[in-house]
Amino acid sequence: MADLIKRHNGIGMTSQRTRARMVERLREQGIRDEAVLAAMNSVPRHIFVDEALASRAYDEVSLPIGFGQTISNPRIVARMLELLNSSGDLGKVLEVGTGCGYQAAVLSKMAKEVYSVERISPLLSKARNSLRELKIHNVRLRHADGNLGCRDGSPYDGIVMAAAAAQIPKPLLEQLAVGGRMVLPLGGQEQRLCVVERNERGFVETIMDEVKFVPLLHGIN
Ligand code: SAH
Repeated sequence: MADLIKRHNGIGMTSQRTRARMVERLREQGIRDEAVLAAMNSVPRHIFVDEALASRAYDEVSLPIGFGQTISNPRIVARMLELLNSSGDLGKVLEVGTGCGYQAAVLSKMAKEVYSVERISPLLSKARNSLRELKIHNVRLRHADGNLGCRDGSPYDGIVMAAAAAQIPKPLLEQLAVGGRMVLPLGGQEQRLCVVERNERGFVETIMDEVKFVPLLHGIN
């Protein structure tokens, strides 16, 4: 129990003050969306990483979360969610690549309902525990191949991918609502963030910043 309280209240490097400093840094880096900043100010990022790494959870780094995967650095999480939230009204969102569940937790503060799919089962279990610990109840986790999207909640107002694909998987385009937006890293060795908007006539793609994500794989594990 004492341990749990310590983990939540945070001491030193995991306190609310450390989190507020991270948010100040995000502002300096050009993140303007107040909903993103407020969400990242409220979600304790250290809960999602190994205790041994907790003191680095708020630094400008990506960190290992096991199984060869990483949690993205705070700036890239903020940037992707800022691009996703351009309309300021996120209803239902799909995340591909739950990983440790951090980005899903941040999304849960910005959207009504979040669906998140992950192909590595033990990662999903860990994410489920962390979300439960934080009493986040509007995230639905699924052990599935994100190349197929997630029919359960479709169509989505927003889709965000945390792994890079060579091409946009077709089912994801189909599951995007008209008026919806998708943000994803596209490419292999060289990747760029891509924003796809769906309107009545079709899809409009905009290529943005250079990024580095783990690859989108196939099948479940
Ligand atoms: N949003 C995560 C980032 C995790 S890294 C976080 O906040 O921690 C990307 C994740 O995508 C990895 O966990 C990886 O296993 C997952 N992934 C890769 N290909 C996938 C696929 N086809 N379907 C579902 N998840 C996938």
